[in-house]
Amino acid sequence: MEKWDVVVVGAGPGGSYAAKTAAEKGLKTVFFERGDKPGEKNSSGAGLGTRWWRDFPEIMGKLPELPSYRKADMIVIKVVDEENRVRLVHGTTGSDRDGSRWSNSLDKGMAGAAIYRLDLDPLIADMAVQAGAELRTSTLVSDVIMDGGIVTGVKTEKGEPIAAEVVIAADGGMSTMARKSGMRNRWGGGCTLVPQLDFGCDGDKLDAVVGNAEWCWFGPFNGAYQMNFAESFHLGAGKWLRPDWDTKPTEVLERVMEIPAFRKFCKVVDAEMREYQAHFLPWLKKPVKTYTGGMMLVGDAGGFPCPLDGEGIWHACMSGRIAAETAALAISKGDVSERVLAEYERRWKASPLGLEHRFGDEFVELWDHSIFDPEIMKGLIQLLLEFSEIHPFSILFDWSDDHVSCLNQHIEHMFDMVPEFSEFASKYMSPLGNTISPQVVRRALLQAKPKVPLLKLLSDDMYLKVLARLNRKLAARLDGV
Ligand SMILES: Cc1cc2nc3c(=O)[nH]c(=O)nc-3n(C[C@H](O)[C@H](O)[C@H](O)COP(=O)(O)OP(=O)(O)OC[C@H]3O[C@@H](n4cnc5c(N)ncnc54)[C@H](O)[C@@H]3O)c2cc1C
Repeated sequence: MEKWDVVVVGAGPGGSYAAKTAAEKGLKTVFFERGDKPGEKNSSGAGLGTRWWRDFPEIMGKLPELPSYRKADMIVIKVVDEENRVRLVHGTTGSDRDGSRWSNSLDKGMAGAAIYRLDLDPLIADMAVQAGAELRTSTLVSDVIMDGGIVTGVKTEKGEPIAAEVVIAADGGMSTMARKSGMRNRWGGGCTLVPQLDFGCDGDKLDAVVGNAEWCWFGPFNGAYQMNFAESFHLGAGKWLRPDWDTKPTEVLERVMEIPAFRKFCKVVDAEMREYQAHFLPWLKKPVKTYTGGMMLVGDAGGFPCPLDGEGIWHACMSGRIAAETAALAISKGDVSERVLAEYERRWKASPLGLEHRFGDEFVELWDHSIFDPEIMKGLIQLLLEFSEIHPFSILFDWSDDHVSCLNQHIEHMFDMVPEFSEFASKYMSPLGNTISPQVVRRALLQAKPKVPLLKLLSDDMYLKVLARLNRKLAARLDGV
């Protein structure tokens, strides 16, 4: 039987990055992909934020050479009111920044990229091959081989057995490897289906209208992302897969397509809808179980996507890297038991990946009380508009760092702006702030003074009411902090 140090299942970002790292460590590595080429089976477009420059500069540096690449310096949030009128809130910009200036530190701002998976996945897979890993495409891995409760290899669809010291399962959210090894059956809630429309358009016109920006549409109806590429864009939205789901996934997208400004945008850039895609995504509070004897799960297979926004490609590459490093350690010790592979979980928990999941409960709670509830969404829209009035260039939508750090900054800002100003802020954001960062809440409450812009937005009568309420709440809250 063929024998490898490391067998990786799946050549998505997680699998390819794991194969690259394992090969660079001198391990004899093979990785399998069921598609004819990496990326072929993956529908997501990839929005890659600033932290990519810190963690994967070798990938970011190569992206501009690829056909679908669009630089992303800004996130433009289109806030739509109940009459379908659009208001803008935008994030910080950094058009003169490039990777070399971003690689060593994470400054504020946005310096990311948007790229098709058909470009991104082969790029990372090629890097793994360059490092010495062997890629086998058009090969579906259908089973694991087990010996005494330890995974010792895999079997391809054709029944071919492949032995391994360590298996790294990077076979996506539906992971056959996780199920066949008995690590889990179904996810048991907290997953999403992401419907997405792919539009082709005129690249020059898109340059003129969107520049280097990603767009989001937020309205009382829900929220949707618009990811812009060289000559195309995606409109997509996710929602928990739950029995009480009473709207079809496509209904959110249809609602955005009714907004006059979106229709006008499509006309101006000569947009033509090309494809409807829908893809499963685990969107959990935190990963459940990520290792067993002889095997580790990375990326979507391990349930790693960010609990705040469902972003998962950075998480796949980070977990792939950590899994391969742990495999090298276990193989060097001659012990790949569950006890030794527990090091994988210790390492990812101690990394920025772990930080992302430390507040998974709170992030999921925030979504549960916002975007998926139309009534609360109205409150969120109000809050966004208030922020834009008070502080148009705030870092509110700056996703340059780990999401928990960003959310922390957002909360700090919110308290600077007097939390009681918005019902949504005091009801849903303040408890979140108390959990994530009690010091910030305490400091902000101690310093909270109504700011001049309040006067601009509220009638005198309303302003006095807010002040009276603020004073009462401040006194009560400070007792409890
Ligand atoms: C519509 C949509 C939009 C998204 N947008 C973004 C975004 O903008 N930014 C972001 O960071 N994240 C985004 N995500 C999340 C992101 O796509 C995933 O988190 C990420 O792709 C996970 O990478 P992975 O390598 O773990 O798994 P995958 O990308 O799912 O790759 C798994 C690979 O394994 C192969 N495979 C599966 N089973 C087998 C088998 N049995 N044998 C052999 N090969 C197999 C598959 O063909 C695939 O190539 C989005 C997700 C969706 C659904």
